[in-house]
Amino acid sequence: MTETKEKSFSRSLLKGTVLNLGLQLANRNLNKNNVWQILLVGAAGGVGDYFLGNAAMGAILGSGNALVNKTKDFETAAKYAAIGGAADLLLNVAEAKAEEFKPTKSKYTDPKNLLKRTGVILAHGHYDIIRRSTYGENGLAQIELTENFQYKTMISAFELAQKTKTFKDTLTLFNNKTHSLVFMETDLTENGRYGTSECFMMSTTDEYNFTPRNNRGFLRNPSNYHFSIRVKLFPLEMENISEKKQIAKLAVVLGHELFIHSRHLEAVKLWELGKYTEALDKEMENPGFDGNIDHKLYMQGQKTIMNQYIKELKNIAASSKLGISSYDIQTAVYEHDKPYKYLLNQ
Ligand SMILES: [Zn+2]
Repeated sequence: MTETKEKSFSRSLLKGTVLNLGLQLANRNLNKNNVWQILLVGAAGGVGDYFLGNAAMGAILGSGNALVNKTKDFETAAKYAAIGGAADLLLNVAEAKAEEFKPTKSKYTDPKNLLKRTGVILAHGHYDIIRRSTYGENGLAQIELTENFQYKTMISAFELAQKTKTFKDTLTLFNNKTHSLVFMETDLTENGRYGTSECFMMSTTDEYNFTPRNNRGFLRNPSNYHFSIRVKLFPLEMENISEKKQIAKLAVVLGHELFIHSRHLEAVKLWELGKYTEALDKEMENPGFDGNIDHKLYMQGQKTIMNQYIKELKNIAASSKLGISSYDIQTAVYEHDKPYKYLLNQ
């Protein structure tokens, strides 16, 4: 018998007794002479509930009362059993739902306070998966963070990206260490996703972090907050392709998360200009379901910063000493664009 079972035994007894008292009150059948019998029948119903469920409790309450009252009213007993059965079903469904959505909080094991730091941060996230989630801080996984990337492909892709002016200038935005740009390489696969990006507001005075959504509280004291952009990367999604193809793909993914989903960077720039309201508005701009408004704008040539980055990436690739050619980048871009082609006509 488990501990939780033992605990619920007294609950079952109480439940049966209270239910039977309620039934007798409803039937105006509660009098001094039979109150102990009613309590006993209720408790017996509770025992039935504990071992067999609500349906058994209903049957015991019904037939027990019929016996006590010498009415042989077993029709009522059957009715109680049916009601008990329905209650069982509903409770089981409710419990299953409660189990499904149990809010297990995600925990970052972050000994070096990586996520509280500002500037550009490279991290490796080891996921001890309790339950998978892509929702970062509200997620259901335990994440152990260590500094720097561990995957060779990720290290090379970052190195390659850094050789472009667009990417380098972007990192410079975080050099003054006001905001943070976290690149978190993970050891998860993510159903074909190579990266995600999200943005939090971090308080510099207490432990609270927020998503900027609909929260204007920051505006009273903006200097107490800074942006933390988190780009999560899933290099293991590419395990079965050649190393140089992985590097080219990951370099494109870095661009995708920063320059196609560019609102995070634009928000930081606005915040730095003191345009706090505009910054929050920008961050809250709707990127569409799964980022599709952003993807569509990119496909229609309106994410010029991404196009510029790709152009530079191609130019730089050959001289990178990583064995990547501009053709590898071109192929990676082609494959990247393929799933978004349908957005061209939307
Ligand atoms: Zn996207």
